[in-house]
Amino acid sequence: MGCASVYPLESSPQFVGPITPSLQAAVERALTEATARLDREKCAGIFRHYRDADGKPLSANLTERRLTARAFLQAIRFADGEHQRACENSDVLAFTHPRTDIVYLCGTRFALLAHSNPRLGAALLLHEELHVLGLGENPPPSHEITMRVLAACSAAAQAAGEIRPDGSRRAHGCGPFPASDGLE
Ligand SMILES: [Zn+2]
Repeated sequence: MGCASVYPLESSPQFVGPITPSLQAAVERALTEATARLDREKCAGIFRHYRDADGKPLSANLTERRLTARAFLQAIRFADGEHQRACENSDVLAFTHPRTDIVYLCGTRFALLAHSNPRLGAALLLHEELHVLGLGENPPPSHEITMRVLAACSAAAQAAGEIRPDGSRRAHGCGPFPASDGLE
């Protein structure tokens, strides 16, 4: 009867607005990766670590909605934000507005990143899921969120350290308040 089990692992992501085939493929792949990682307890623990503006663990927000982190991730809708202001910053790959259920991806930039580094693509979707559940940003720094997700959600099937810190440093961009609060 678990609510998560009604979603097959490969369920298709929901898109809002026009989406290019390359971005669609990138999101599908990153979502599948992210979903698989959430099955690991250590990865799911990031929802207990981070809290919303009221100081409540994000996991409590999931419990209130009677959703697992996995089911919640699969309920998020995605849109191409390439032409939005936040994506004019070349360090930004994805962004969302707090407590809305649409995650914007910076089109070609996200697609290329997620293709070349699926693990980081998955981490970025999980990063955005935290925001959708109420996590603010700055603080905590965007880069720190992504690094924590990477550390907690590194798949056992892949060697730890495969992602070099240098490789992900440029990929931190995202945030609920893009282009106005010093995000770089
Ligand atoms: Zn962020």
